[in-house]
Amino acid sequence: MSLLTKALEGIITPEMDQVAAQENVSPEFIRQGVAAGRIVIPCNFHHKTIVPIGIGNGLRTKVSASIGLYGNNAVIDEEVKKIKTALTAGTDALMDLSVSGDIDTMRKETLNSASVPVGTLPVYQAIAEAGEKYGSSVKMDAEEMFEVIERHAADGVDFLALHCATTMDVVERAKKEGRIDPLVSYGGVHLIGWMIANQCENPLYEQYDRVLEIARKYNVTLSLADGMRPGCLADSLDGAQVQELVILGELVRRAREGGVQIMIKGPGHMPLDHVKATVTLQKSLCKGAPYFVFGPLLTDIAAGYDHINAAIGGAISAWAGAEFLCYVTPAEHIGVPSIDQVREGVIAARIAAHAGDLAKGMKEAHQWDLEMSMARKNLNWKRQLELALDPQRAKEIRKTRNSGESSACAMCGKYCAMEIVAKYLNTTKHSC
Ligand code: SF4
Repeated sequence: MSLLTKALEGIITPEMDQVAAQENVSPEFIRQGVAAGRIVIPCNFHHKTIVPIGIGNGLRTKVSASIGLYGNNAVIDEEVKKIKTALTAGTDALMDLSVSGDIDTMRKETLNSASVPVGTLPVYQAIAEAGEKYGSSVKMDAEEMFEVIERHAADGVDFLALHCATTMDVVERAKKEGRIDPLVSYGGVHLIGWMIANQCENPLYEQYDRVLEIARKYNVTLSLADGMRPGCLADSLDGAQVQELVILGELVRRAREGGVQIMIKGPGHMPLDHVKATVTLQKSLCKGAPYFVFGPLLTDIAAGYDHINAAIGGAISAWAGAEFLCYVTPAEHIGVPSIDQVREGVIAARIAAHAGDLAKGMKEAHQWDLEMSMARKNLNWKRQLELALDPQRAKEIRKTRNSGESSACAMCGKYCAMEIVAKYLNTTKHSC
């Protein structure tokens, strides 16, 4: 029986208990959230090493880091190092987005290395295999797509990203919109290419019940992605994007009726003044399903700094109600991220998530900041460094940019505001 079905029957599972303990809420709160579809707990029956987490309304905002084999020079060992770096930096989930090479082994390595939920985009592999087998991905048989989806589920993948709502109608709408960057979703563009070449409706939409059957069998959470994800600010919230979101709302309802947990993957690029509207629209059309946003990126011109661009977008999205942030690295739009850029991407996304949680009024987030404020006032460096979101980096800077002659830091030296306050205004040390 799937986790959603159990929640609907009033059963509190060990996974719900675990999430409740992590989030400091009652197990019944989690059960009700799962039953209503506002919370998902991605945990495939076959992913033995997983420590379940909850994603959704009323819970800490989570972040996901993506790794994978891209191009001819991709090496599994290098990607495994990125996984370890992302986990050390505090990612809550991982996505293996491999498009080439030994995709099966990469996925198994990811699942074995991770106690966090793992997501994949199986159509990437179906495209790659069809390309090798037939010389062109458009010659792929729809059955082969479903075989790869089930292969990923059987291996233990916890959430599957699928473009089930990218229908022929949506494609027709996109043609009329006069987009600047018509399609930027890798899975979406190949799927649409296949649909047009074969003059067929999207099999993932036409045979959605089959997708649900696989998801239910392995307790996989669906992460339905938008093929019409805008790739530049000018295309944000156009008719094609909104039409696909309407269909996604329909598929959310059918997934819940079928006992399958579901979240929605969203944009992408959008201007800052579209963030609240985009999240509100998703929440309304998809009946409160958790929103997994890619960034979003608030400007198109931040190449080299898109992790900062995405962190601003992620913080505002989280404030507006998004619950899951897909990280963006400084290499976005330019190349494959290095190990260090993976770390920077995770930290930037975690700052965004935390800022969103503060704005959402999450008690634990406020307590963390309050403790840091007290440690600053008390010039308690040990505690400040412990509380820093990235203690390692904070320690490095403290060590290399200070002489160690003062209890203050090198910034204001003997004019340290904290020391002056302690000496002349209030000598009481605070603790919380
Ligand atoms: S010296 Fe300035 S920056 Fe450093 S701790 Fe004191 S007030 Fe803060």
